[in-house]
Amino acid sequence: MSSDAPKFIVERGLSPLCKAMRMLGFDVLDRSTLSLRDSLRRAIEERRIWLRREMDLTSNQYGVRYFILEAEDIGDQLSEINSAYNIADFTNPFSRCLICNMHLRKATQNEIKDNVPARTLEHFDRFYYCDSCQRIYWHGSHILKMKKKLRAIGWDIQ
Ligand SMILES: [Zn+2]
Repeated sequence: MSSDAPKFIVERGLSPLCKAMRMLGFDVLDRSTLSLRDSLRRAIEERRIWLRREMDLTSNQYGVRYFILEAEDIGDQLSEINSAYNIADFTNPFSRCLICNMHLRKATQNEIKDNVPARTLEHFDRFYYCDSCQRIYWHGSHILKMKKKLRAIGWDIQ
């Protein structure tokens, strides 16, 4: 993903949107996992767009870029975000850990040999590793499931 891809933070209650955006490869923080102070600091320092459903006066913090989502449906929300920020130009699917937002790297033989079922090792040759949570990803059933999910919300990823 190019370095000028927009970065985001999603408000509480939008965790499914956060996950879908991470599947597409975006750098997205989940407000529900951070303190308000850290959320504000990182939104400002890292120039993140704060996605939320509604705006109240007290939540309007100086220096934060907010984007208000009108739609209820995740697919429609992604379309709204795309209309505003052209995110379709910046997708890099399955490059990021869905749990902790870290970039994945190629797993080493050592990392996979004791942690991936033997049958999986036989069938797949590319494995990816998250340095933060030690999860291993591969192009097997869970990526197929993610593709299906993304297709269902209007993002057909190859
Ligand atoms: Zn992770």
